[in-house]
This record gives sequence, structure tokens and C-alpha cells, in this order.
Amino acid sequence: ATPTAVMVGTGLGAEAGILIKSGETLEKAHKVNAVFFDKTGTLTLGHPVVTDVKAVPGMSPRDVLQLAASLEAASEHPLGRAIVEHARAEGVSLDAVQGFEAFSGLGARGRVGGVVVMVGNGRLLHEWNVDVQALETPAKAWVQEGKTVVYVARGTAAVGMVALRDNPRAHAREAVEALKGLGVRVGLITGDNAATARAVASLVGIDHVVAEVLPEHKADVVREAQRHGHVTAMVGDGINDAPALAAADVGVAMGSGTDVAVEAGDIALMRPDLRLVAEAMVLSRLTLKTIR
Ligand code: ADP
Ligand code: MG
Repeated sequence: ATPTAVMVGTGLGAEAGILIKSGETLEKAHKVNAVFFDKTGTLTLGHPVVTDVKAVPGMSPRDVLQLAASLEAASEHPLGRAIVEHARAEGVSLDAVQGFEAFSGLGARGRVGGVVVMVGNGRLLHEWNVDVQALETPAKAWVQEGKTVVYVARGTAAVGMVALRDNPRAHAREAVEALKGLGVRVGLITGDNAATARAVASLVGIDHVVAEVLPEHKADVVREAQRHGHVTAMVGDGINDAPALAAADVGVAMGSGTDVAVEAGDIALMRPDLRLVAEAMVLSRLTLKTIR
């Protein structure tokens, strides 16, 4: 494309809320044939809310919420924040937490009232030899509704679990359809449980799901697709996915996301409208076609 075409294309993009950082990106975007979306905060609003709390016999859901929220008060994770918010709304008073540790993509651990409390996914609890079998059947039902389920352990015993829902963004489904219409393969990458991820993916029309991916491995998923000959785009909010944004041929940052995302991406979306991903590709196509 001529410098003029690139200037025009970049200008049109900016007007539509698509900030394209370089002419090179504008020229490359139309070649993308595989787009990966991060789930939390990208495909979804990133504001999970607690929908259910369950306790094992001998405990009340309120006790479980109290333990989980006391621990998560020290967490910066959106799931942790949602649990604390729910406890506050329910008038549950929190205990102090000591020795808080976050396990990226897994959960958190600390001492509440002198006892070790752990909140996280099945993998984390399994790693610490906490048996969650008694909770697996009810967890499955929630997960099939697209909810994220985190287990709560006290000492070495599972005491309950919390389900959270994070709704897909408006127009997520149309955004996926538009990409498919351009002949692009669409995938979902997440650290969340596979069944939860599949439920959310099917809501928005995505059939390719890569779940239970630790944050440091999200970029590997992108590289793997590249090895298979795909020209890739990764759409993310920068929480956990900045390396994947950088690894993709075209990294697309949600403008509402972190500065890290905008830094790591080649394109920043100034509105949280996922339809802009396909628009960026169409713009690239037009820029190269019309004025060459
Ligand atoms: P995503 O890829 O969807 O952004 P993360 O990689 O941040 O998700 O987390 C993956 C999973 O790890 C979560 O779905 C949850 O099960 C667990 N997890 C991570 N941090 C926490 C936390 N603070 N409290 C409870 N669970 C957590
Ligand atoms: Mg995210």
C-alpha cells in the first residue's frame, strides 16, 4: 500500500475506534486466518458475580463465604473481588488474613484465624491433596451453565464452593459470526475450567476452545497455531495475556483493558466492541485493494 493509503486507512480506523499502531499492522491484518479471544475481561465483561455458595454437611454457606472472602480480601483477582463484594453485600464480616499467597491461574492461599484456607480451581486443590470429590457432582451442574466454580478448603478438607458468572459482552456473538464470515477460524483461550469455557464459547458461537491454560502458556497456544501455518490475531485485555498479544501476528488490546495490553498490542480497540476486530480486517483488505 502507498503511504497515502496507509494514512487514509489508519485515519478511518481511528474514527471507528480502532487504533492501528503501524502501517505494517494495517497491511498484515487482512492476512489473519485465526483469531483467539481471551475469555475473562475480553469475551466477557470481566466482572464476575457470585451466583451460588455451597457448603459440605456441618458447615453453612455463610461460613464458606466468610472463609473465602476473608482470604480473597488480599487478592487482586476479579474472582476474589467478586467474592469479597458478595460477602459485604450479605453482611458477612471478614477475618484478617496472614501469609497471603496468590497462585497465578490457580487460586490463592493464606491463614485465616490461624488455619490455612485455600480458594481455587480443582487443579490447585489437587496439588495440595485436598479431596473435592464430594463437591464434584453439584459443581458440574454449575459449570455446564457457564459458571466458574472455585473450591474452598480449610486445612486439608474441602468445605464448600462458590459459583460465579461473568456474562459475555454485548455483540460478542455477532463479532464471532463476522470473523467466521471472513473465513477466519475463531478460538477461545482461558485459564478457566474446560467445561465452563465450552459453555461460554457455545453462547457466542466459538467451537475451538483451549482451556485450563496457565497464564505463561497462553503465548504458546498462539505460537502453536503459527507453527501450523496460521496468521494469528490475539484479542485480550492484558490481564494474563500480554505475552500472547505480543506473540500474535496481530495483537489486539481491549482499550478498556490495562496499559500493558495497549503496550503489547498492535491494535487497540477504543470501544469495548468486539465487532471492531472483523472491521479492522476489512479495513486492512480495503486499504490494500483500493489504493495500491
Ligand atoms: P482467565 O484465563 O479466565 O483470565 P485466570 O488464568 O486468571 O483466568 O484464572 C484461571 C482460574 O484459576 C480461575 O478460573 C479460577 O478457577 C482460578 N483462580 C485464579 N485466581 C483465583 C483467585 N484469586 N480465587 C479463586 N480462584 C482463582
Ligand atoms: Mg483476561
